[in-house]
Amino acid sequence: MLSLNKLINKLVKGKKAQPDVQSGEPVIVPRSEHTISRKQISQNALNVLYTLKDAGYEAYLVGGCVRDLLLGHEPKDFDVATNALPEQVDKLFRRSRLIGRRFKLVHVRFGRDVIEVATFRAPPEASNHVDDQGRIMQDNVYGTLEQDAWRRDFTVNALYYNIRDFSIVDYTSGIDDLNAGLIRLIGDVETRYREDPVRMLRALRFVAKLGLKLDDDTEAGIFNHAGLLADIPPARLFDETLKLYLTGNAAVTHELLCHYHLFDEMYPQTAALLHQEQDGYPRTLLMKALENTDRRIDANKPVTPAFLFAALLWEPVRQRAQLLMENGMPEIPAMQRASSEVIGDQIQRVSLPKRFSLVTRDIWNMQPRLTKRQGKRAFKSLLHPKFRAAYDFLALRSEAGEPLEELVDWWTRFQDVSATEQQTMVNSLGDGGGGGGNRKPRRRRRRRKPAARQQNKGE
Ligand code: ATP
Ligand code: MG
Repeated sequence: MLSLNKLINKLVKGKKAQPDVQSGEPVIVPRSEHTISRKQISQNALNVLYTLKDAGYEAYLVGGCVRDLLLGHEPKDFDVATNALPEQVDKLFRRSRLIGRRFKLVHVRFGRDVIEVATFRAPPEASNHVDDQGRIMQDNVYGTLEQDAWRRDFTVNALYYNIRDFSIVDYTSGIDDLNAGLIRLIGDVETRYREDPVRMLRALRFVAKLGLKLDDDTEAGIFNHAGLLADIPPARLFDETLKLYLTGNAAVTHELLCHYHLFDEMYPQTAALLHQEQDGYPRTLLMKALENTDRRIDANKPVTPAFLFAALLWEPVRQRAQLLMENGMPEIPAMQRASSEVIGDQIQRVSLPKRFSLVTRDIWNMQPRLTKRQGKRAFKSLLHPKFRAAYDFLALRSEAGEPLEELVDWWTRFQDVSATEQQTMVNSLGDGGGGGGNRKPRRRRRRRKPAARQQNKGE
């Protein structure tokens, strides 16, 4: 069953031919020669595969799930490819839904689980489906299994598990690359990165997640084409950011993004400051945040994009606020202005939906407030809906080397003790105990109202 290309690949040791020659004949790995068993496939995915097969269609598992099963990882989800048209798929299932405008797909629902079923698609035809830059504009032309394989991104992502005979179908030398531990772009590197520059991000994500290496050309292409990310809509880069940073391998992924200068394209304000690291900032804070995030995901604890962005953009915000303060602006308004400016600039590249950015701002704006604990301020802060996130962020800053240990300890204790003890803690702060900049304008205001000042003397 070995095609001529495969044979040549096997014979030319170490220097494999680029799998851009579409041979027409796939390598078929029979059930007896691979490790994927039906026990490893979810019941729901099997249900979809068998329903399609019984209706006379071709049905395959494809993409990350086949790759992950072959590598011995548990797949995140199961994707199905078929020759049935989306409308035909939709008719076969009671709880299915046609989705997508650009790509029509069918989602088959089983409670909270969703199996995505995609009809084989053809690669974009040069002239009418790509724009001036070579970017894919339309990708909704149905095709054969073979065409579907060649339009996928990496060889290891183009493996198909056939439900008819449990074999694996490989058109692009994906099995060879999997065995060699290589992420290799299918086809001509420049063309494929131009078609969709997000493939560069995906390549690094798979390196971090799977511990595979980049093939030489796939790697060189990233250095040469990093700038193409500038053309990707900010909303898509937000989605990609979540996959890069909130799926358990953020620390490694981040190092890779920086190494290949993709981080510079997505987060230019932070990247500019990462290059001029000072006293362990900001790299330390961001890396600590990412390591914490990875640990939380590992322990099945929730993570939020709001906190991630607070860490990603902290250094530009901190420095901008500092500058505003040097120019005479009080701390709290300076932080608010800096937050708005940095977020405003950032969303030109990577969007951040309002429901998250509001929380990100709260986390930052609470930072100066947490230093001001006298009177009712500490109690007010404690009641703030985002207190916990702001406190965690303060602890992160301290962990990263800012001299905030005492303040963090104070807040840790304050949350733990009784109301009476809390009051004692506040009282014992005295005058210099973190009253801070907020007190000045209040005093000035009160000078005009002696009675009010009298009343508040006990604070
Ligand atoms: P993950 O484990 O992160 O889900 P995955 O490889 O399954 O990895 P998906 O985003 O779920 O990634 O995509 C499923 C499959 O669709 C991929 O394996 C690949 O074959 C194909 N694919 C996804 N994105 C692209 C792209 N930008 N260009 C070409 N093919 C793609
Ligand atoms: Mg997937």
